[in-house]
Amino acid sequence: MALIVQKYGGTSMGSAERIRNVARRVARWKAQGHQLVVVVSAMSGETNRLIALAKDVSPQPDARELDVMVSTGEQVTIALLAMALKDIGIDARSYTGGQVKVLTDSTHTKARILHIDDANMRRDLDRGTVVIVAGFQGVDENGNITTLGRGGSDTSGVALAAALGADECQIYTDVDGVYTTDPRIVPEARKLERVTFEEMLEMASLGSKVLQIRSVEFAGKYKVKLRVLSSLEEEGQETSGTLITFEEDKNMEQPIISGIAFNRDEAKLTVLGVPDRPGIAYQILGPIAENNIDVDMIIQNVGHDGTTDFSFTVNRGDFARTKKLLEEQIQPHVGARAIEGDSKICKVSAVGVGMRSHPGVASKMFRTLAEEGINIQMISTSEIKISVVVDEKYLELAVRVLHRAFGLDQA
Ligand code: ASP
Ligand code: MG
Repeated sequence: MALIVQKYGGTSMGSAERIRNVARRVARWKAQGHQLVVVVSAMSGETNRLIALAKDVSPQPDARELDVMVSTGEQVTIALLAMALKDIGIDARSYTGGQVKVLTDSTHTKARILHIDDANMRRDLDRGTVVIVAGFQGVDENGNITTLGRGGSDTSGVALAAALGADECQIYTDVDGVYTTDPRIVPEARKLERVTFEEMLEMASLGSKVLQIRSVEFAGKYKVKLRVLSSLEEEGQETSGTLITFEEDKNMEQPIISGIAFNRDEAKLTVLGVPDRPGIAYQILGPIAENNIDVDMIIQNVGHDGTTDFSFTVNRGDFARTKKLLEEQIQPHVGARAIEGDSKICKVSAVGVGMRSHPGVASKMFRTLAEEGINIQMISTSEIKISVVVDEKYLELAVRVLHRAFGLDQA
């Protein structure tokens, strides 16, 4: 008997039929003798609908009230799933975040989990009851409803698994696992049987939408065994998805590169001709950080004639705001020659723990792109990742040729 936490996303809970389907899947795991805690998202589209409605009433909705409202999406699905389970003879009980209690800080719309009380859940599990918990929501120390940020149910699932010391946390979604790259761009992309936690973290931060990045961080911190699976597979046809592992399996030949990730959602800004003296990076990026703009890649060139060029990337949604800030406040202050911006860029990355022990990955990546005439505008690396910024029009070509060059295509 194992204790399993299953999380079902919005698509899996998207209709009455799908909810009954989830109930049947839960019942099958239960029939194998396992204890189950099931975390659910709102029905797909519901959270967006609620946010849009709030903005219709109030252009900048109060964050506390917004949390009261958007958390209702998950309150609906926990009850529906509990009903569906009871209809097929499975004892189940639904809980909101506050009822569990999932204690968070008070940062409305992006709260962090501080503690989870497992007493209610344990009592139910000991009685053989399936516990159903609303994802995405918690409660602060004053009893205010909070939410964990978009896609937050993944984090709820992992956090509950950590709190309960579950044997496995299964994230059910509309894809059947983690792929070497997006199969919509490269049809030859393969599903990975396993991927290391560090690789998954890089892929999540580089734009792979399979898991919310905070859930992966959480899994890493608390060593939760995590598996991504499809909820849309028919009974008897189920595959084992992708397992996110901790140690690199010494007995297995590690591929050098596990995946090619990409992100279209970036924009580049360059401050030209800034004086090459101490404090400049801080004078440029300090105000950016104060305005809550996330900076990704940063490049500063070697100085010449006492000046240097300073480039960085931000989310495309922050591009206009950042450019304005640079032009109106930062440029006059640091005495830069000009500001340039380009929002038609993308980032393509090769990720793999095998990179640590295999030199030459970067040069292979650069050669592959050069052979296609793709100009590299920026480069950044970590121990297990190489990222390049290229013109957005080369995104698909770059992903395709790199996927092939690193031998990731299906045999
Ligand atoms: N319903 C929330 C959202 O759409 C949480 C989740 O689905 O993970 O962001
Ligand atoms: Mg989701």
